Amino acid sequence: MEEELRILKPACPKCGASKAINVPESLFQRGSFGFVKIQVPKGAICEEHQFIVITDNTGLILGYEEIDDTVVRIEEELELEEERGLTLQYLIKRLGFNCIAGLLHSKIFNYPAFIITSQELEFSLDELNEFFDNLFPREFKDSNNKIELIEYDDEIFPNPGYFYSLVKNQRKNAFLMNPRRHVIQIPWRTTIRYETSIINFALEKNDPEESYKILSDLILRFLEDVKFTRDTLTPLKKISEKDLIKILDNNLTLSTINRYRMILIKEFIRRRISPDLIKKIKKK
Ligand SMILES: [Zn+2]
Repeated sequence: MEEELRILKPACPKCGASKAINVPESLFQRGSFGFVKIQVPKGAICEEHQFIVITDNTGLILGYEEIDDTVVRIEEELELEEERGLTLQYLIKRLGFNCIAGLLHSKIFNYPAFIITSQELEFSLDELNEFFDNLFPREFKDSNNKIELIEYDDEIFPNPGYFYSLVKNQRKNAFLMNPRRHVIQIPWRTTIRYETSIINFALEKNDPEESYKILSDLILRFLEDVKFTRDTLTPLKKISEKDLIKILDNNLTLSTINRYRMILIKEFIRRRISPDLIKKIKKK
């Protein structure tokens, strides 16, 4: 008899790479306390990293773990790093690549963001908010949009998946994640390709201060593009997207204005400046 398979789509907690894999259904009946751990070898999802996916009995992904023999060492490294304050490198190790990319997207494009957890975090939420807010120039620093915690009691809700679905129902417009490096809900339709690329670019430097500066500079460059687009659109009645891209591309010499950049600029203006400005851009 052929074994039944279930499709999972985990994401590498170190670099964000994601891919669908087939997992034998029988695996989900074995888990104790409702948790199932699936080891993902190097090459299965991502060419460079191996990790463990944690799911519940129904195959719902709850989080990720490092491979066993490195856990102790990583914990020690992380504790050392905590004393030095939050860095991009630290946050990715602690919360996973996709969660950090998602938090950055939430901050740039003004989406509410929550960390759903049954335990206290290892760092302060204020520091986490400052880490992101300080990436922005004063003009675009939005200290009202705070990343917040949603705490739950795991004795009342022994099945985290059930609690997640309650929260998802209440907060359809929010980015939701947990401290186990797992993204629970993404509220936007655009991707995090932009955040993934700027984070990876910043990580090419090993020095946390340099990485932070690069990330901040790249965001600043994007905001310059946004401001120029805003100022171009303001006096106009309407303009075709094609013509607008042409104007931006000729004037913003530091950036390549392609369709994807345009989508991001539009999303920023819609969510943080004025939806009416975007209505001036016509598809044809
Ligand atoms: Zn990876």
